[in-house]
Amino acid sequence: MTQKTISLNVILRYGKRRITTTFKTALLILTKGYYDAPSYSFSYYKYFLRLMTNANFKFYSVKDFLLSYRKNEVHQKSVILRHDVDVNPLNALKLAQIEKRYGVTSTYYFRLKSQFYKFNHTTTKIIRKIYDLGFEIGYHYECYTLHNGNKHLAIEEFTKSLEKLRQIVPIYTICAHGARKDMKNYEMWDNMDELTKYNLIGEAFLSILFNEEIRKNLVYISDSFNGWEQKLKDFIKRNLNAQNTPILYINRHPYLFYPI
Ligand SMILES: [Zn+2]
Repeated sequence: MTQKTISLNVILRYGKRRITTTFKTALLILTKGYYDAPSYSFSYYKYFLRLMTNANFKFYSVKDFLLSYRKNEVHQKSVILRHDVDVNPLNALKLAQIEKRYGVTSTYYFRLKSQFYKFNHTTTKIIRKIYDLGFEIGYHYECYTLHNGNKHLAIEEFTKSLEKLRQIVPIYTICAHGARKDMKNYEMWDNMDELTKYNLIGEAFLSILFNEEIRKNLVYISDSFNGWEQKLKDFIKRNLNAQNTPILYINRHPYLFYPI
């Protein structure tokens, strides 16, 4: 069998796009060395959820947190849990099923222009399933960087994409995708009032991380930053058995989990 025939067989069997996606994901993981970290496993995640819920931490989606905060009803031990679905929607569903088992809630932010997955029937089915499990779905927007900072074009695309998502599930919050170092997607908004025009109640960065009052008493941990595991362990050590704790705001990317 020639090399060409073998490649053709593989492509026919698994589908060209799937191979490309798998390759790109593997490359990301290998170059960043994520496989070194046991905390990228589902089993560590289950341990973490059990630990926190047993210690009386209350988990919030971004939407639920903002609503509680505005009513001054935030629990004294709070975790805001967010997932930016940058790469792999199926892993997002697996994560949601685990979270459901542990009785916690969170927000899953989906992209419409990911280079790693298509916004097609398979993805919309996954979005619907996650929503039906009781989770919040949000829009992980990147229209500002895609249009090189042209606000007019960005808004046009934002409006269309939000509408597309809302044909599947209700959307109340959005979250900027970090596509470029020199430009942030949340920079497309001049003020928060712009969001209310779209019947949105918040943005994952602007409404929480850049809200000075919330930020004073908040620890933000994203698994895309070096040293996040140590930061998480330090938080747990300091706060697990405390009565009142800072708010823990976590961003975990579903594609970074490996299946053990
Ligand atoms: Zn992202």
